[in-house]
Amino acid sequence: MVPVDPTDSRVDSPLFSAAAWDVAIIGAGPAGSTAALHLARAGHRVLLLDRKSFPREKVCGDGLIRDAIECVKRAGLYDELKAAAHPLEGLRVYAPNGLYADFSGEFWTLERLRLDHLLLRGAMAAGARFLPGEVTGVGLGGAGVEVALKGIGAPIEARSALLTTGADLSLLRRMGLTAPSPPSAIAMRCYVQSKVESRRLVVSFDGSCLPGYAWIFPLGQGRYNVGCGLFGLAPGHGAPSLQALFNSFLEGFPLARELMAKGERVSPLKGSPLRCGLEGMPERCRPAARILAAGEVIGTTFPFTGEGIGKAMESGELAAGLLDEALR
Ligand SMILES: Cc1cc2nc3c(=O)[nH]c(=O)nc-3n(C[C@H](O)[C@H](O)[C@H](O)COP(=O)(O)OP(=O)(O)OC[C@H]3O[C@@H](n4cnc5c(N)ncnc54)[C@H](O)[C@@H]3O)c2cc1C
Repeated sequence: MVPVDPTDSRVDSPLFSAAAWDVAIIGAGPAGSTAALHLARAGHRVLLLDRKSFPREKVCGDGLIRDAIECVKRAGLYDELKAAAHPLEGLRVYAPNGLYADFSGEFWTLERLRLDHLLLRGAMAAGARFLPGEVTGVGLGGAGVEVALKGIGAPIEARSALLTTGADLSLLRRMGLTAPSPPSAIAMRCYVQSKVESRRLVVSFDGSCLPGYAWIFPLGQGRYNVGCGLFGLAPGHGAPSLQALFNSFLEGFPLARELMAKGERVSPLKGSPLRCGLEGMPERCRPAARILAAGEVIGTTFPFTGEGIGKAMESGELAAGLLDEALR
């Protein structure tokens, strides 16, 4: 599948001609690629844009729970993604007093570098086109909307736009579609290589990481995604720093201690914000004709554990359904 040529800025190219696209989707994370796949399968002309070229890294825990796996099934990508993913035996959640509860079911890990690329490829195989480029604005235009791309003079025309730009609100703010809003949480992760064998997702709210939460997610072959997050409290305002929380988790949580005693960090710690529980919605957003938003940009992430891949995909499905109806 060949992506659209991003250097093709001729106004008469099919990329820029009026009404060439039914939907321009901005952001090719799980929300955007899922929406693109379903819209393209329904016969719509879909252009998916992202400021990054793929495969691209996304700071995440790389854990997939039931909601995400069900979306993958509905997208028809189950066999392909299951073959790429690392299957796990269950999920263990630790309470502040150190007691834990085990949850059974289907759980996977798959590094976002691969997951998001596979979802994008699925959308392209369904007929969506992909263009790497940073969108600087979306306004009303002749065909419906005009999408402005950084460094490209002529706007792209589409009948409608779907904004799936993740936790970063800068595009929506530039477009005047949202009031400033602090993220619900900030989290960070690194990769660890260790001789310890563990076959379940571990999420901890135990004393070592309070008032935050932490996780240890096995990726297979001794590789682990280890991270922690802090809800509601902006670091530097009386809350401990994330780095201090992470160190305290590595020293105080038995599995983390063992992991590090028999292994080492193999990547730097990287952080990113989360937007959860539809926080601030709908008050912080202004409606705009022909423009929808889905995924973490509207706060779809699950507030308990910070799982957001499945919720982003579900909201991508919902947006695709609404657009499909509206465009017929
Ligand atoms: C540390 C951490 C750990 C996490 N762990 C998990 C986990 O284990 N499991 C889980 O389910 N969830 C987890 N989450 C949450 C999950 O990462 C998000 O909920 C999910 O990525 C949201 O998907 P999305 O498609 O809405 O946005 P994203 O995945 O963020 O995708 C948005 C895309 O939009 C693009 N974009 C943004 N602005 C523009 C622009 N102006 N022009 C063009 N492109 C643009 C970006 O490049 C990006 O590719 C974690 C989050 C963090 C921070």
